[in-house]
Amino acid sequence: MFVGVGAARVRDLFEQAKQKAPCIIFIDELDAIGKSRAGGRGGIFSNDEREQTLNQLLAEMDGFDTSKGVIIMAATNTPEVLDAALMRAGRFDRQIIVDRPDLEGREAILKIHVGKVTLSPDADLKVIAARTPGMVGADLANIVNEAALLAVRRNGNQVQMRDLEEAIDRVMLGLEKKNRVMTASDKERVAYHETGHALVALSVEHAVPVYRVSIIPRSVGALGHTLQLPTEERYLMTLPELEDQITVMMGGRAAEESVYNGVISTGAGDDLQRASELIRQMVMRFGMSDRLGHLTYGAPHNAQFLRFPFTSEERNYSEKTSEAIDEEVRRISDRLYLRAKTVLTSRRAELERIARELILKETLDRRQIELLLSPLKQIQNVAVVIGAEE
Ligand code: ZN
Repeated sequence: MFVGVGAARVRDLFEQAKQKAPCIIFIDELDAIGKSRAGGRGGIFSNDEREQTLNQLLAEMDGFDTSKGVIIMAATNTPEVLDAALMRAGRFDRQIIVDRPDLEGREAILKIHVGKVTLSPDADLKVIAARTPGMVGADLANIVNEAALLAVRRNGNQVQMRDLEEAIDRVMLGLEKKNRVMTASDKERVAYHETGHALVALSVEHAVPVYRVSIIPRSVGALGHTLQLPTEERYLMTLPELEDQITVMMGGRAAEESVYNGVISTGAGDDLQRASELIRQMVMRFGMSDRLGHLTYGAPHNAQFLRFPFTSEERNYSEKTSEAIDEEVRRISDRLYLRAKTVLTSRRAELERIARELILKETLDRRQIELLLSPLKQIQNVAVVIGAEE
């Protein structure tokens, strides 16, 4: 194994590889030596040694005879900063993008990591995979590790489903702060807020199913949470699905406003931020506004590969369009907020019932919530809400 940079090291590396053929040369964090030589992030301070290393690497690769049985592989998280010469044909011929794993991928990765622990038969890795969208291999390894620690802490000899669930909560939401004192009135408000999300999610057609509602505060800000569990991996979202999702986000604030006669709180800040971002994207990225048409607005500029692509934008529209965008975002948000409120008004009795139960039990799962719903009411209300919308 070779660590660090230096032209001599590269020469030596290739020399040894040729002697040991067939073999694979693997260069991890290729960007450390392969950064673009043309200015780039190094600025005016050029790094001579790094440059020499890169030149040597390029030279070695040029005179490379694949029939000798040596394969070169390299990995990087930032392919956009690599020197153009490295990417030229004849150097690295294939580029493989390792994306974040999908549902099936996560399940497969979990299977590998649980091999190291004693797993209880009740552990359902499919559910764990469904609860961890966006996580990569290292995150999933961490979940299994946390779960094992939790199992040991409760003197168990197997990792059970509840350990895995608690491990996800710890990683995603932070530790439970059972000793954080919430005043009774705060607790009540959080209960109504979370019930609002859950009830709207149960009422709209395309919402991701509610998995659990909780008002136990966690260390990462949230005073409570409503957990929705997708049943399948989605790559596309239709307009009605997006609207339903945003309506669910509005459910917390709408519940507070209805229950406390218009007295609202800071509790909805995070929901509103997510909703605003999504609506703005609907208007500016997805062409989902009649008024602004099937166009995109704003050119993403120097969009960094593998990072969230819309971080900075170049404005390519007029002042007037900018105003129209703001108005459209506002109009859609008002409409969906009203929609959430209409749902909750029509299901007020259930809102009360679930919130009361939540204050007592602090956490309710889907089955417990369903027992508190009025029979037959759910289907009728969907019709009412959609009717009011059109
Ligand atoms: Zn909320």
